[in-house]
Amino acid sequence: MSRARTIRIVEVGPRDGLQNEARILPVEARIDLIKALAETGLGTIEAGSFVSPRHVPQLAATAAVLAGLTLPPEVGLPVLVPNGRGFSDALTAGARSIAVFAAASECFSRHNIGRGIDQSLSDYRPIVAEARAKGLRVRGYVSCSLGCPYEGRIAPSKVVDVASRLAGMGCEEVSLADTIGVGTPDVARAMVAAVAQEIGISRIALHFHDTYGQALANVLACLDLGVTTVDSAVSGLGGCPYAPGASGNLATEDLVYMLTGLGIETGVDLRRLAAVGRAICSSLGTRPRSRAGQALSAGMAEEGAHV
Ligand code: MG
Repeated sequence: MSRARTIRIVEVGPRDGLQNEARILPVEARIDLIKALAETGLGTIEAGSFVSPRHVPQLAATAAVLAGLTLPPEVGLPVLVPNGRGFSDALTAGARSIAVFAAASECFSRHNIGRGIDQSLSDYRPIVAEARAKGLRVRGYVSCSLGCPYEGRIAPSKVVDVASRLAGMGCEEVSLADTIGVGTPDVARAMVAAVAQEIGISRIALHFHDTYGQALANVLACLDLGVTTVDSAVSGLGGCPYAPGASGNLATEDLVYMLTGLGIETGVDLRRLAAVGRAICSSLGTRPRSRAGQALSAGMAEEGAHV
């Protein structure tokens, strides 16, 4: 398999990013962030979550965020739904795209979503079926695909099992998440290759965290498998809930810079994206975590401008 000529980036900053940031942004600021990200050319932006605001106050009022967005219909705005109630709220809010989240680790599943893997999957089945029947797009996440804070290393066979069941129930796309960011390139590639054998590479999204500085290397290691979709968060928003102070999601600016250098299209305007990254870090009171964003802020040239 060779590298795709175009990579679709799923920007997860306004959901996965913000839910792990200490400062809670008002609804207007979340709307402005999503609009600004769409203006950079990003075509899929995770817009929020319908989990309980008691658990994730950063993403309360996601319905108001959706209501405040008037973007072209081709911009995908997936929202996370944890259960039937969240799904019902998402439908009421007019969501056209949802995501459900399972884990490859039994311990993490019980700690994070209060249900074992089997229970979570059987709870999602009717939600996914109804969503698909209503014409919604559905993505499934597999957390802890490369490691778990409780169980340590996770066997690829466990990821294959959960990813196959999500795909089998109707998730068009399965995002393989290195939730704690412990993976390294060969391990990441082997895991993704194993899942691709079962569900096909075109249905897989990579979701790597930069806790140990490996996210970009892990993406690169998987590109030759023919991966077409990669998740990232502007300015690397997010942190790691199990490693306070650690880096978060792969930064979208860094991903775009690397892909551009590889001759792969993303459709994203890097300079505009870097400006969005600076603005959101200022709003959150956090230091910028994208190397490319910092270089551009300091006046360095974009890839291609160097001789
Ligand atoms: Mg993440």
